[in-house]
Amino acid sequence: MAILPIRVFPDPILRRKARPIKRVDDSVRTLADDMIATMQNARGVGLAGPQVGELKRIITIQVPEQDAFAMINPEVRNREGSRQVMEGCLSVPGYSGLVTRSVKIDARALDVNGGKFKLSAEELVAQAIEHEVDHLNGIMFLDHLIAHEELHKVGVSPDEPHWHDVGYTVYAQHAPTLPQDFQMVEVLNTVARLSQLNAESSMSETSYDLSDGAHEPAVHTHSDD
Ligand SMILES: [Zn+2]
Repeated sequence: MAILPIRVFPDPILRRKARPIKRVDDSVRTLADDMIATMQNARGVGLAGPQVGELKRIITIQVPEQDAFAMINPEVRNREGSRQVMEGCLSVPGYSGLVTRSVKIDARALDVNGGKFKLSAEELVAQAIEHEVDHLNGIMFLDHLIAHEELHKVGVSPDEPHWHDVGYTVYAQHAPTLPQDFQMVEVLNTVARLSQLNAESSMSETSYDLSDGAHEPAVHTHSDD
């Protein structure tokens, strides 16, 4: 088994839709094994094909005290209830945020032998399956954030100014006109760049281009605090 490199946001592959797996063969079983090893190595609860650079509809799930398993061509059939939970993602290292997930789901998929199976899942397993199936459709937990303010840098210290400063500026410029997802992408990109600043950097290095190049860099420092 191999530990695969995990693609990190904003890698564009994370926004693409994965293709169904037509035949469950040895190459798929190898991928499933490698994904499970990668997920466990990263201490993740789940992993989806696109996160390891494979645009294939395969996910792996690992919850405490259960064996890891793979779901090929998974589909969520029913969703019941809703709850708010803190969530993170191996492709968004260092951040977590509050999202709404189902309490219970019914899903179906193929196993690594190509057999069909159904499962009903609650709580963490349901959350993980919803999160990973989202990845197969190019959706990230960032899209489900209840509010911008709910994206947290894990382990942030009170005297670390980056998040507040950047969030303040970007929202002030763009909040009335842009959809939520766009703003979140923008803020997260900016934070990521700021975290790379060091003594040799100048603030101009924090400017960035959005993928379509249609927008001006949104970073301006503000000096009132
Ligand atoms: Zn994820």
